[in-house]
Amino acid sequence: MSFPKPISTIAFDADDTLWVNQPHYDEVEDNFAALLSAYLSREAVSHGLYEADVRNLPIFGYGAKAFMLSMIETAIALTDGRISGKEIQRIIEMGKEMLSRPVQLLDGVRHVLDSLEEDYALMVLTKGDLLDQESKIARSGLGRYFQTVEIVSEKKPETYRKILDRHGLQPDEFVMIGNSLRSDILPALEIGACAIHIPADSTWAHEQVSEANVTDKNFLKLDNICQVLDHFETPIRHS
Ligand SMILES: [Mg+2]
Repeated sequence: MSFPKPISTIAFDADDTLWVNQPHYDEVEDNFAALLSAYLSREAVSHGLYEADVRNLPIFGYGAKAFMLSMIETAIALTDGRISGKEIQRIIEMGKEMLSRPVQLLDGVRHVLDSLEEDYALMVLTKGDLLDQESKIARSGLGRYFQTVEIVSEKKPETYRKILDRHGLQPDEFVMIGNSLRSDILPALEIGACAIHIPADSTWAHEQVSEANVTDKNFLKLDNICQVLDHFETPIRHS
């Protein structure tokens, strides 16, 4: 499959599509479990934290701040209040450190954006906390490639429909690229847009859905972001 024009706009998810994200959460969860190891097993901590994360999504939304609050809540609940102030302080430091880490781009991202920017309008379309995502875009150094940055609290079909309406785009001229079937692919396909799934090495359990039945003609699954270039018409340029 290739995407000749009239595709006008290519939207990229950010976390685990443009840069490394989930591995940071996995690492902090390991450190959190180590901090609570005197009280609880690794499995009990992971289970409790996942439950709190998902339960808190409608209240806190996505992102590192929400994750930090869920870690604190989990630590207090699972230790029956025995967690110390010093240990809570350590959890807050873990969260703050996540919010200021250097952004590590995934392989090939800059090359792909360099190759597409002249012929397509490029968009970032990401879920998450506004300040956190804006800060990551700034730290990534990729801001100049994107004509539009959309930071949303959820990626549902209505979310995509509203964004396309706002930019005067038809679904058949829009492609969404991302690592999450649940957030990036299925809702985009549902409104008639094209979608490219590039699975990440590590994906949060809440974002995982079965892909066995994705047979949409507008759907493409690739192994890495560089393969995106095989599916768009871009003139060969020699630098
Ligand atoms: Mg993502």
